[in-house]
Amino acid sequence: VPVSNIRNFSIIAHIDHGKSTLADRLLQTTGTVSNREMKEQFLDNMELERERGITIKLQAARMNYRGEDGQDYVLNLIDTPGHVDFSYEVSRSLAACEGALLVVDASQGVEAQTLANVYLALEHNLEIIPVLNKIDLPGAEPDRVKGEIEEIIGLDCSSAILASAKEGIGISEILESIVHLVPPPRDTVQEPLRALIFDSYYDSYRGVIVYFRVMDGTLKKGDRIRLMASRKEYQIDELGVLSPNQIQVDELHAGEVGYLSAAIKAVADARVGDTITLATAPAKEPLPGYTEAKPMVFCGLFPTDADEFEDLREALEKLRLNDAALQYEPETSSAMGFGFRCGFLGLLHMEIVQERLEREYDLDLITTAPSVIYKVRLLDGSEVYIDNPSHLPDPQKREAIEEPYVQVDMITPEEFVGPLMELSQSRRGVFKDMKYLTQGRTTLTYELPLAEVVTDFFDQMKSRSRGYASMEYHLIGYRENPLVKLDILINGDPVDPLATIVHRDKAYYVGKALVEKLKELIPRHQFKIPLQAAIGSRVVASEHIPALRKDVLAKCYGGDISRKKKLLQKQAKGKKRLKAIGTVDVPQEAFMAVLKLQ
Ligand code: GDP
Ligand code: MG
Repeated sequence: VPVSNIRNFSIIAHIDHGKSTLADRLLQTTGTVSNREMKEQFLDNMELERERGITIKLQAARMNYRGEDGQDYVLNLIDTPGHVDFSYEVSRSLAACEGALLVVDASQGVEAQTLANVYLALEHNLEIIPVLNKIDLPGAEPDRVKGEIEEIIGLDCSSAILASAKEGIGISEILESIVHLVPPPRDTVQEPLRALIFDSYYDSYRGVIVYFRVMDGTLKKGDRIRLMASRKEYQIDELGVLSPNQIQVDELHAGEVGYLSAAIKAVADARVGDTITLATAPAKEPLPGYTEAKPMVFCGLFPTDADEFEDLREALEKLRLNDAALQYEPETSSAMGFGFRCGFLGLLHMEIVQERLEREYDLDLITTAPSVIYKVRLLDGSEVYIDNPSHLPDPQKREAIEEPYVQVDMITPEEFVGPLMELSQSRRGVFKDMKYLTQGRTTLTYELPLAEVVTDFFDQMKSRSRGYASMEYHLIGYRENPLVKLDILINGDPVDPLATIVHRDKAYYVGKALVEKLKELIPRHQFKIPLQAAIGSRVVASEHIPALRKDVLAKCYGGDISRKKKLLQKQAKGKKRLKAIGTVDVPQEAFMAVLKLQ
């Protein structure tokens, strides 16, 4: 088809508002995927993704559509991940489009994620088509939600589409709107090749499969390409379109979306946002907007069994082939032995990697509490960045510590404003703004230290608003604060993975709460175990775990003690992950204790 009949669009929505269901319906209605082939939520094909009901990895689908005007169109849907951790990928997918469907659940309304994505789409000058989904629900209030979209986003909703992705209502209207409202790509076939990478994944047979949108020029099978940021060159083996299964073609032109393989060894060599050009006739400038996604959250991963260290290394290597944002380097801890310090885009990314290591690679891991990157200015005038609290330089060498701050935007029903302000204040938040929206809903903006957000802020926000509030955050820079390192000593030995960096004014409270929590979490042993929290050599809180008494043991077991004990031990081993630190067995939960403080 001519470029004037191509439409590239994405769907932006808050989690659970129906993006995947709508995408399925579009694929079905256009006959791209037959009903028989249609698995539920075709686009979310990662197991983990489906279980959690979130979209992690974006993909694309090309649909052929005959419009009501009798013309044939190609509609490329570029899916976006639905989580703040992946907002850079969202921005690159949007950069590959000319329009977006804004899907809002008509029984809920605008949420924080909706807003964040709409702002990204507006930054890229996309044509935005509002779709009110789930109008089949008895609680749907399309007029109220239209008002919200107009008020908060400033988008005209007079021609918003009322839809039910589930019942198939409004689907043909949506397809027609895409044809009529989303502009066609610019016709720049004559210019030197520039194609934007918006996704990639590793395939063990073909190497990295790159998904891209041709912005200018033409790309042919067999072409020698250059990636402008990584400066690497490859020969294209395979070129094709996604319908949504891969179908090979000989060439792709400006405006089209496709995939290629070129014996690329790891996704880090073909990063999202990089520009593909021809090695023989390169473009002068790469496409704008490339940055390397930087990890913001770090933690230590240690095998419970020291023999599994090499297995862990191999598993991380394999995951890294497919995940350019994952960072890791070997770490040796006096308490934990050998492991890795790993960097992630955010907490969800961290959880996904941990879960995959355990499920797909069958590893038993101890994960230490998440930390952020601190900037430490030293007295000699130099600066260091540290991602591991136990590496904080001595106070005598430090001039100041700076920590990353984020702006957090929350949307909540009015009645939870109080509890959410209290939460934000208790996390050292700085109040910025509050706006009343329609029908008793409110936006609340705070600036917060990232370290206070990566702990359990999200869970707390959800529980204090009974699930009704939503949030979004983005980095706004570094700020100096009086921070100190809080060490935890178990049985007299400092346990480095339990060290945290805290605000001076909170150190006493955190130390006390931490040792109390550890007392609950660490099982009793045959001997008494002292627990201490200390800043330098000053102990700020202490507790102890009393020794087990033999008679207590006998009383509670009764009967054949040794048999029952063995049984119990066996059960405990299956359930509890323990790490021996000195002579003390410390369970996994203890390493996360800092996240469980009230
Ligand atoms: P996503 O997170 O935005 O991809 O949302 P999903 O497409 O996974 O949908 C979330 C939930 O809403 C699922 O249980 C869907 O079955 C349901 N859902 C999606 N669209 C509709 C709709 O139009 N009506 C109703 N009643 N439920 C819907
Ligand atoms: Mg989804």
